Amino acid sequence: PFEKSKGQHILKNPMLVETIVHKSGIEPTDVVLEIGPGTGNLTKKLLEVAKSVVAVELDPRMVLELNRRFQGTPHSGRLKLIEGDVLKCELPYFDICVANIPYRISSPLTFKLLAHRPAFRCAVIMFQREFAMRLVANPGDALYCRLSVNTQLLARVSHLLKVGRNNFRPPPKVDSAVVRIEPRRPLPPVSFKEWDGLVRLCFNRKNKTLGSIFRQKNVLSLLEKNYKTLQALQATQKVQMEEDKVSSDDVTVLAEMIEELSMGDDDEKEAEEEEMEVEEDMDRVGEGGESSSFKDQALRVLKQGDFAEKRAAKLTQVDFLYLLSLFNGAGIHFS
Ligand code: SAM
Repeated sequence: PFEKSKGQHILKNPMLVETIVHKSGIEPTDVVLEIGPGTGNLTKKLLEVAKSVVAVELDPRMVLELNRRFQGTPHSGRLKLIEGDVLKCELPYFDICVANIPYRISSPLTFKLLAHRPAFRCAVIMFQREFAMRLVANPGDALYCRLSVNTQLLARVSHLLKVGRNNFRPPPKVDSAVVRIEPRRPLPPVSFKEWDGLVRLCFNRKNKTLGSIFRQKNVLSLLEKNYKTLQALQATQKVQMEEDKVSSDDVTVLAEMIEELSMGDDDEKEAEEEEMEVEEDMDRVGEGGESSSFKDQALRVLKQGDFAEKRAAKLTQVDFLYLLSLFNGAGIHFS
């Protein structure tokens, strides 16, 4: 009866459901968003403590079952079911999100939530364990990656619970973990396109020094292209760059970019590009002109902030923010 393609793994351990609800700190005045309620085990507990629950479920059979389960109970008036794909529908207002989601949608869902306005108070979500560990990873941890840095720019994230696969029916192939995500208020004053552009470059080879990354020919030509695009824009349209303004549009842009992020992505890319490097090094011989002046400028910035010998794998949020401000100050842009 349960569909693998929809990631249907039902929580069968009532104690675990209880713990998740307890840890989410729901107040009696809260509107709770649940994603993928399935047969409603978590929904039932949420209804006992929240003001109301809005639940988005893709599978019409589950929606039918949920309606049947809660009809005529004292809770039925406080449950609103939305049938559809959570990634495609417009989310309603909510204070807290609590969900045991299909793991396939982890990344786009996280950034859809973080782009939602008004910002919610917190989200308590079950993820595949490795994804959860990437979300909460700190500089120097093996799983620290672009996903960690981008999520932590927008939110505080913390690990709440380890959950073994046998708590589900049918058991999934991987273990899980519950994570708490609290959107930062206010958000750091930075353009997310620029931020992600820089972070992406640095994490493409997270164990290389920034000095060697910013000597790469493809990196320099990207910076040069950005520079020219910006100049052309400013000249013809007199476009005012709003570098220091955070808009929700910007967050949506980030959500779209992150969709392509999948687990293990960073490491694969790193291996792939390792081969290209040899060719580039040879190309560099005798290279001159504009891109070498870009190189000088980029390297000067790295030196100024003492970043040339550092590696993305160990840089903190504050490091990245500072580095971005130094680059932007020198007229170097990442989007
Ligand atoms: N919350 C229930 C529980 O804990 O027992 C079920 C969790 S199960 C892991 C995921 C649920 O999400 C399934 O009911 C599935 O039909 C639903 N689902 C899958 N993809 C979805 C999507 N894109 N939008 C909304 N619901 C989805």
